[in-house]
Amino acid sequence: MSELKPCPCCDADNPFKRAIPEVGIPSGDSGYRVTIKCRDCGCSITRWALKKAWAIESAEAAWNRRAQPDNAPLTLDELRGMDGEPVYIVGRLYGGWTVPWRNAAKYIARCPDEANISHYPKDYGKTWLAYRTKPEPPERS
Ligand SMILES: [Zn+2]
Repeated sequence: MSELKPCPCCDADNPFKRAIPEVGIPSGDSGYRVTIKCRDCGCSITRWALKKAWAIESAEAAWNRRAQPDNAPLTLDELRGMDGEPVYIVGRLYGGWTVPWRNAAKYIARCPDEANISHYPKDYGKTWLAYRTKPEPPERS
């Protein structure tokens, strides 16, 4: 187990970890779902794996990756490799968290809480960008 970094959303340093047995979808295998969640703001990451230790390792790695202070926009390849992890989209039509589609040839990220706003790879860097964590607004002096 690795040390958890502070929350990627609010920087509070009190995440908790929970592992519960759960049947995987669509495989039907018995496994574990591990959630790491911030006690302050509720920001969370969830991973499922056949073995509890694998799920924990995967969730911890994802949490810590998101906690990286360097929050440059993802490259399109990095975005495609996010593997079910939420990303923060900043775009002309939408700004917020979403989970990019896996294996998406046509669109790569769709925002579930807004009706049918799709983001296309060909427009990446032109009308939208994706980040590991919510980007800070530019500082004003
Ligand atoms: Zn938080």
